Amino acid sequence: MPDLYLATPASPSLRAELDRRFTVHDKDPPPTTRAIVGGGQLQLGAEMLERFPTLEIVAINGVGYDGLDLDALRARGVRVSTTPDVLTDDVADLAIGLMLAVQRRIAANDALVRRGGWKAPLGRHASGRRIGIFGMGKIGAAIAARAAPFAREVLYTARSAKSVPWRYLPDIAALAEESDVLILAAPGTAATSHIVDAAVLDKLGPAGVLVNVARGSLVDEDALVTALWAGTIAGAGLDVFADEPHVPEALRSMEQVVLAPHQGSATAETRAAMAALVLANLDAHFAGEDLPTPLL
Ligand code: NAP
Repeated sequence: MPDLYLATPASPSLRAELDRRFTVHDKDPPPTTRAIVGGGQLQLGAEMLERFPTLEIVAINGVGYDGLDLDALRARGVRVSTTPDVLTDDVADLAIGLMLAVQRRIAANDALVRRGGWKAPLGRHASGRRIGIFGMGKIGAAIAARAAPFAREVLYTARSAKSVPWRYLPDIAALAEESDVLILAAPGTAATSHIVDAAVLDKLGPAGVLVNVARGSLVDEDALVTALWAGTIAGAGLDVFADEPHVPEALRSMEQVVLAPHQGSATAETRAAMAALVLANLDAHFAGEDLPTPLL
């Protein structure tokens, strides 16, 4: 059976299916490795790639690929697949949930009641807000569709304007300026690194809420902590962080911040659908067929 490197842990059912098809290594992968499976955070740079001279395919169990050196993989002719579409609704649902949880103090009030408390500070109006979305791809569009029924206006930016009914703004600074809630739904790339900095948070303003379901790298976390402490923005809902699983103590200590441990796609249904796509791509590759969901 071909050697496969399982770079990040898989569910027991995915692991069992991989074991039926491959000799699976979850550490010390041999140079004869022909396939790698990893989550959206898989790190595979040019140097590490040299350890795998016979690598043929990288099957990402997710849609993020910011840790992959795509140029090096392309140069080597390595195929890459992701699991698009099946996770879009879950990530969009979580974005809306985080937004509501921050504005209506859902997490803070849950903790309050569990402590035996009852008298809670007031939250903030969630309806009738201007909701700005950074990235209008699959997830951004799904967030917009959910946000529109109760937003005053949905706004967005991306690298180019789309055929969508929402107002396009030229950049994230303009988007933050006009938004009450700024939701991040763009990939982690060199161009988006720390794109949410002190200046953008300043434009979002003291009633503003930041929601990040994209990648931690999009946000200057130190600037975010400073803005939250100073009241430059009102709150934040965060599913992703700069250095996961490390979450700065400052963020953990603030009750206007709602935290999730990178749960965007974490439902039983979606994780099963993602696993099925990982297997479908591997099966297609080793049968010499086109990949169902190729990235490269
Ligand atoms: P997608 O369909 O490829 O959409 C990405 C969007 O981001 C596009 O509209 C793109 O604009 C925009 N974009 C890319 N670079 C940009 C830049 N420099 N400036 C402005 N906009 C930019 O991807 P998706 O499926 O919606 O996923 C988006 C991201 O969500 C993923 O890359 C991943 O990092 C993250 N994610 C997180 C979780 C989680 O568990 N929290 C789960 C899944 C995905 P153009 O169309 O104009 O190029």
